[in-house]
Amino acid sequence: MPELPEVETIKRTLEERIVGKRIKCIQVLLEKMVLPLNVEQFKIRVEGSIITGLGRRGKYLLVHLSFASVLIISLRMTGRLIFVPSGKDILVNKHTHLVFEFDDGSFLYFNDVRKFGTIHCVPVEKLDNCPEIAKLGPEPLGPEFSETLLKEMLHTRRKKIKQLLLDQTFIAGIGNIYADEILFQAGIHPETLSKSLTSRQVHSLFRAIVGVLNEGVKHRGTTIKDYVDGDGITGNYQDYLKVYGRKGKKCYNCGKQIETIKLGGRTAHFCPGCQREGI
Ligand SMILES: [Zn+2]
Repeated sequence: MPELPEVETIKRTLEERIVGKRIKCIQVLLEKMVLPLNVEQFKIRVEGSIITGLGRRGKYLLVHLSFASVLIISLRMTGRLIFVPSGKDILVNKHTHLVFEFDDGSFLYFNDVRKFGTIHCVPVEKLDNCPEIAKLGPEPLGPEFSETLLKEMLHTRRKKIKQLLLDQTFIAGIGNIYADEILFQAGIHPETLSKSLTSRQVHSLFRAIVGVLNEGVKHRGTTIKDYVDGDGITGNYQDYLKVYGRKGKKCYNCGKQIETIKLGGRTAHFCPGCQREGI
Protein backbone atom coordinates (compact mmCIF):
# COMPACT_ATOMS: atom_id res chain seq x y z
CA MET A 1 0.00 0.00 0.00
CA PRO A 2 1.50 3.32 -0.98
CA GLU A 3 2.50 5.36 2.06
CA LEU A 4 3.70 8.97 2.30
CA PRO A 5 7.03 8.51 0.43
CA GLU A 6 5.36 6.64 -2.44
CA VAL A 7 2.53 9.16 -2.87
CA GLU A 8 5.03 12.04 -2.61
CA THR A 9 7.11 10.41 -5.36
CA ILE A 10 4.05 9.94 -7.59
CA LYS A 11 3.18 13.60 -6.98
CA ARG A 12 6.66 14.77 -7.96
CA THR A 13 6.73 12.62 -11.11
CA LEU A 14 3.30 13.72 -12.24
CA GLU A 15 3.91 17.39 -11.45
CA GLU A 16 6.31 17.60 -14.38
CA ARG A 17 3.91 15.72 -16.65
CA ILE A 18 0.40 17.03 -16.07
CA VAL A 19 0.41 20.44 -14.36
CA GLY A 20 -0.78 23.08 -16.84
CA LYS A 21 -2.59 20.56 -19.02
CA ARG A 22 -6.26 20.80 -19.91
CA ILE A 23 -8.42 17.74 -19.32
CA LYS A 24 -10.22 17.19 -22.61
CA CYS A 25 -12.34 14.28 -21.48
CA ILE A 26 -12.58 11.51 -18.94
CA GLN A 27 -13.67 7.92 -19.28
CA VAL A 28 -14.98 6.43 -16.07
CA LEU A 29 -14.98 2.67 -16.50
CA LEU A 30 -15.65 1.84 -12.84
CA GLU A 31 -18.44 4.06 -11.56
CA LYS A 32 -17.95 3.43 -7.82
CA MET A 33 -14.52 5.02 -8.11
CA VAL A 34 -15.98 8.56 -8.28
CA LEU A 35 -18.63 8.19 -5.57
CA PRO A 36 -20.46 10.04 -4.05
CA LEU A 37 -20.83 11.85 -7.40
CA ASN A 38 -22.29 10.02 -10.36
CA VAL A 39 -20.30 9.86 -13.57
CA GLU A 40 -22.26 12.71 -15.18
CA GLN A 41 -21.66 15.09 -12.25
CA PHE A 42 -18.03 14.09 -12.07
CA LYS A 43 -17.49 14.85 -15.76
CA ILE A 44 -19.18 18.26 -15.48
CA ARG A 45 -16.81 19.25 -12.66
CA VAL A 46 -13.67 17.96 -14.31
CA GLU A 47 -13.83 17.97 -18.11
CA GLY A 48 -12.45 21.14 -19.67
CA SER A 49 -10.55 22.19 -16.53
CA ILE A 50 -6.82 22.82 -16.34
CA ILE A 51 -4.66 21.09 -13.74
CA THR A 52 -3.25 24.00 -11.74
CA GLY A 53 -1.17 22.06 -9.22
CA LEU A 54 -0.66 18.87 -7.29
CA GLY A 55 -0.54 18.39 -3.55
CA ARG A 56 -0.46 15.63 -0.99
CA ARG A 57 -2.09 15.14 2.39
CA GLY A 58 -1.06 11.94 4.17
CA LYS A 59 -1.50 9.13 1.66
CA TYR A 60 -3.87 11.18 -0.53
CA LEU A 61 -2.76 12.80 -3.77
CA LEU A 62 -4.52 16.11 -4.42
CA VAL A 63 -5.09 17.39 -7.96
CA HIS A 64 -6.12 21.05 -8.07
CA LEU A 65 -8.32 22.05 -11.01
CA SER A 66 -9.03 25.46 -12.54
CA PHE A 67 -12.77 25.01 -11.86
CA ALA A 68 -12.09 25.55 -8.14
CA SER A 69 -12.35 21.81 -7.54
CA VAL A 70 -9.86 19.34 -6.11
CA LEU A 71 -9.55 15.65 -6.87
CA ILE A 72 -8.68 13.63 -3.77
CA ILE A 73 -7.05 10.46 -5.05
CA SER A 74 -6.62 7.42 -2.86
CA LEU A 75 -4.59 4.58 -4.35
CA ARG A 76 -5.44 2.26 -1.44
CA MET A 77 -3.85 -1.17 -1.94
CA THR A 78 -3.01 -1.55 -5.60
CA GLY A 79 -3.93 1.71 -7.37
CA ARG A 80 -1.50 3.08 -9.94
CA LEU A 81 -1.49 6.38 -11.81
CA ILE A 82 0.36 6.01 -15.08
CA PHE A 83 1.15 8.88 -17.42
CA VAL A 84 1.17 8.01 -21.12
CA PRO A 85 2.80 10.66 -23.38
CA SER A 86 1.09 11.56 -26.66
CA GLY A 87 1.92 9.21 -29.50
CA LYS A 88 2.64 6.27 -27.18
CA ASP A 89 0.68 3.06 -27.37
CA ILE A 90 -2.40 3.08 -25.21
CA LEU A 91 -2.11 0.59 -22.40
CA VAL A 92 -5.75 0.39 -21.35
CA ASN A 93 -6.41 -3.03 -19.86
CA LYS A 94 -9.01 -4.72 -17.69
CA HIS A 95 -7.52 -3.02 -14.63
CA THR A 96 -7.87 0.49 -16.10
CA HIS A 97 -10.83 2.08 -14.36
CA LEU A 98 -10.47 5.75 -15.21
CA VAL A 99 -8.73 7.58 -18.05
CA PHE A 100 -7.93 11.29 -18.27
CA GLU A 101 -7.30 12.49 -21.81
CA PHE A 102 -5.43 15.77 -22.14
CA ASP A 103 -5.63 18.36 -24.92
CA ASP A 104 -2.14 17.52 -26.18
CA GLY A 105 -2.99 13.84 -26.76
CA SER A 106 -1.36 12.50 -23.60
CA PHE A 107 -3.24 10.40 -21.04
CA LEU A 108 -3.28 9.54 -17.35
CA TYR A 109 -4.61 6.12 -16.41
CA PHE A 110 -5.87 4.99 -13.05
CA ASN A 111 -5.26 1.22 -12.94
CA ASP A 112 -6.24 -0.80 -9.91
CA VAL A 113 -6.25 -4.59 -9.68
CA ARG A 114 -8.21 -4.74 -6.42
CA LYS A 115 -10.54 -1.81 -7.23
CA PHE A 116 -10.36 -0.14 -3.80
CA GLY A 117 -8.94 3.14 -5.12
CA THR A 118 -11.12 6.25 -5.27
CA ILE A 119 -11.16 9.70 -6.87
CA HIS A 120 -13.37 12.15 -5.02
CA CYS A 121 -14.03 15.58 -6.49
CA VAL A 122 -14.75 18.36 -3.97
CA PRO A 123 -14.97 22.16 -4.19
CA VAL A 124 -11.63 23.63 -3.07
CA GLU A 125 -13.22 25.56 -0.19
CA LYS A 126 -14.52 22.30 1.26
CA LEU A 127 -11.23 20.40 1.01
CA ASP A 128 -10.12 20.82 4.64
CA ASN A 129 -13.54 19.83 5.95
CA CYS A 130 -14.23 16.81 3.78
CA PRO A 131 -14.29 13.49 5.68
CA GLU A 132 -11.05 12.05 4.25
CA ILE A 133 -8.94 15.11 5.01
CA ALA A 134 -10.55 16.59 8.15
CA LYS A 135 -9.70 13.61 10.36
CA LEU A 136 -6.01 13.40 9.44
CA GLY A 137 -3.28 14.08 11.96
CA PRO A 138 -0.34 16.42 11.23
CA GLU A 139 1.95 16.01 8.23
CA PRO A 140 5.16 14.49 9.59
CA LEU A 141 7.32 16.32 7.04
CA GLY A 142 5.36 19.57 7.40
CA PRO A 143 6.43 22.67 9.36
CA GLU A 144 3.85 22.16 12.13
CA PHE A 145 5.30 18.79 13.19
CA SER A 146 7.80 19.17 16.02
CA GLU A 147 9.24 17.12 18.87
CA THR A 148 7.19 19.15 21.35
CA LEU A 149 3.99 18.47 19.43
CA LEU A 150 4.81 14.76 19.17
CA LYS A 151 5.43 14.57 22.91
CA GLU A 152 2.10 16.22 23.68
CA MET A 153 0.29 13.94 21.24
CA LEU A 154 1.91 10.77 22.61
CA HIS A 155 1.08 11.55 26.21
CA THR A 156 -2.62 12.06 25.52
CA ARG A 157 -2.97 8.60 23.95
CA ARG A 158 -2.73 5.20 25.58
CA LYS A 159 -1.97 2.81 22.77
CA LYS A 160 0.86 0.59 21.65
CA ILE A 161 3.24 2.78 19.67
CA LYS A 162 3.16 0.70 16.48
CA GLN A 163 -0.64 0.88 16.33
CA LEU A 164 -0.54 4.60 17.04
CA LEU A 165 1.90 5.26 14.19
CA LEU A 166 -0.49 3.47 11.81
CA ASP A 167 -3.42 5.60 13.00
CA GLN A 168 -3.92 8.29 10.32
CA THR A 169 -5.69 10.56 12.82
CA PHE A 170 -2.51 10.57 14.93
CA ILE A 171 0.06 11.29 12.18
CA ALA A 172 -0.83 11.25 8.48
CA GLY A 173 0.94 9.11 5.90
CA ILE A 174 2.69 6.32 7.84
CA GLY A 175 1.82 2.69 7.00
CA ASN A 176 3.13 -0.71 8.01
CA ILE A 177 6.51 -0.61 6.26
CA TYR A 178 7.66 2.81 7.46
CA ALA A 179 6.21 2.31 10.98
CA ASP A 180 8.41 -0.79 11.43
CA GLU A 181 11.47 1.00 10.04
CA ILE A 182 10.85 4.09 12.20
CA LEU A 183 10.59 2.04 15.41
CA PHE A 184 13.75 0.11 14.57
CA GLN A 185 15.66 3.32 13.93
CA ALA A 186 14.34 4.78 17.18
CA GLY A 187 15.21 1.58 19.11
CA ILE A 188 11.65 1.28 20.44
CA HIS A 189 9.76 -2.02 20.83
CA PRO A 190 6.48 -1.89 18.82
CA GLU A 191 4.38 -2.83 21.87
CA THR A 192 5.63 0.04 24.04
CA LEU A 193 2.74 2.13 25.34
CA SER A 194 2.78 5.65 23.92
CA LYS A 195 2.25 7.20 27.34
CA SER A 196 5.27 5.46 28.83
CA LEU A 197 7.84 6.74 26.30
CA THR A 198 10.67 8.67 27.96
CA SER A 199 11.83 12.07 26.71
CA ARG A 200 14.88 10.40 25.20
CA GLN A 201 12.67 7.91 23.34
CA VAL A 202 10.37 10.67 22.08
CA HIS A 203 13.45 12.50 20.80
CA SER A 204 14.64 9.35 18.98
CA LEU A 205 11.17 8.68 17.64
CA PHE A 206 10.80 12.20 16.26
CA ARG A 207 14.16 11.99 14.54
CA ALA A 208 13.30 8.54 13.14
CA ILE A 209 9.89 9.60 11.79
CA VAL A 210 11.35 12.55 9.90
CA GLY A 211 14.57 10.72 8.94
CA VAL A 212 13.01 7.49 7.64
CA LEU A 213 10.25 9.24 5.69
CA ASN A 214 12.75 11.63 4.11
CA GLU A 215 14.99 8.70 3.15
CA GLY A 216 11.96 6.95 1.66
CA VAL A 217 11.20 10.02 -0.48
CA LYS A 218 14.87 10.36 -1.44
CA HIS A 219 14.90 6.76 -2.73
CA ARG A 220 11.58 7.27 -4.52
CA GLY A 221 9.53 4.96 -2.33
CA THR A 222 9.45 1.25 -1.56
CA THR A 223 8.35 -1.35 -4.08
CA ILE A 224 7.49 -4.67 -2.47
CA LYS A 225 4.77 -5.65 -4.93
CA ASP A 226 2.66 -3.13 -6.75
CA TYR A 227 3.93 0.39 -6.26
CA VAL A 228 5.33 2.33 -9.21
CA ASP A 229 5.68 6.09 -9.69
CA GLY A 230 3.77 8.15 -12.28
CA ASP A 231 6.10 6.94 -15.03
CA GLY A 232 5.66 3.26 -14.14
CA ILE A 233 9.10 3.05 -12.46
CA THR A 234 9.62 1.12 -9.20
CA GLY A 235 11.07 2.67 -6.03
CA ASN A 236 14.41 1.79 -4.42
CA TYR A 237 13.86 2.03 -0.68
CA GLN A 238 13.20 -1.73 -0.41
CA ASP A 239 16.99 -2.10 -0.70
CA TYR A 240 17.44 -0.05 2.49
CA LEU A 241 14.83 -1.71 4.73
CA LYS A 242 16.32 -2.85 8.05
CA VAL A 243 13.47 -4.90 9.55
CA TYR A 244 10.39 -4.94 7.31
CA GLY A 245 10.22 -8.20 5.32
CA ARG A 246 13.40 -9.50 7.04
CA LYS A 247 11.92 -12.03 9.48
CA GLY A 248 14.54 -14.62 10.51
CA LYS A 249 17.39 -12.62 8.97
CA LYS A 250 20.22 -11.11 10.97
CA CYS A 251 19.91 -7.57 12.26
CA TYR A 252 22.47 -5.35 10.49
CA ASN A 253 23.15 -3.66 13.80
CA CYS A 254 23.43 -6.43 16.45
CA GLY A 255 23.24 -9.74 14.56
CA LYS A 256 20.13 -11.06 16.34
CA GLN A 257 17.31 -12.51 14.21
CA ILE A 258 14.52 -10.17 13.18
CA GLU A 259 11.21 -11.29 14.66
CA THR A 260 7.55 -10.55 13.99
CA ILE A 261 4.50 -10.19 16.21
CA LYS A 262 0.85 -9.55 15.38
CA LEU A 263 -0.46 -6.21 16.56
CA GLY A 264 -4.02 -5.18 15.77
CA GLY A 265 -4.18 -7.53 12.80
CA ARG A 266 -0.93 -6.23 11.29
CA THR A 267 2.50 -7.82 11.37
CA ALA A 268 5.19 -5.85 13.18
CA HIS A 269 8.84 -6.59 12.35
CA PHE A 270 11.44 -5.76 14.97
CA CYS A 271 14.85 -6.68 16.33
CA PRO A 272 14.70 -8.19 19.84
CA GLY A 273 18.23 -6.93 20.48
CA CYS A 274 17.88 -3.31 19.37
CA GLN A 275 14.23 -2.79 20.35
CA ARG A 276 13.92 -4.26 23.81
CA GLU A 277 10.65 -4.11 25.72
CA GLY A 278 10.48 -1.78 28.68
CA ILE A 279 13.55 0.22 27.67
ZN1 LIG B 1 19.46 -5.53 16.29
